[in-house]
Amino acid sequence: MSHIRSKDTKPEIIVRSFLHRKGFRFRKNDKRYPGKPDVVLPKYKTAIYINGCFWHVHNCDNFVWPKSNTEYWTNKLINNKKRDKKYHDQMREKGWKVIVIWECEINEDRLQRLISEIKGE
Ligand SMILES: [Zn+2]
Repeated sequence: MSHIRSKDTKPEIIVRSFLHRKGFRFRKNDKRYPGKPDVVLPKYKTAIYINGCFWHVHNCDNFVWPKSNTEYWTNKLINNKKRDKKYHDQMREKGWKVIVIWECEINEDRLQRLISEIKGE
């Protein structure tokens, strides 16, 4: 891999194309909202953040603290985590529903569950 793109990574494509197939209307990476949520569904006032397990420090098998430059990585990743919380809190304060999907949990069940979460059923 020559470089890692931060936009349109695979988990985001999976979630977006699923929602598209289900007929949801959404915006992507909307800069007007804290943390540029990956998917914004104005009709449901719902923002979806699709998180990579490494960059967002998921408590799962995909995440391992780097063994070199530990201080750099610890600071960077802890900051990512704090920033996530801040963005999510800001969205909730504005009355938005926040849904976080981790890349490791994306499967058909999770996507089906997502529909209920969006619709609040
Ligand atoms: Zn994970």
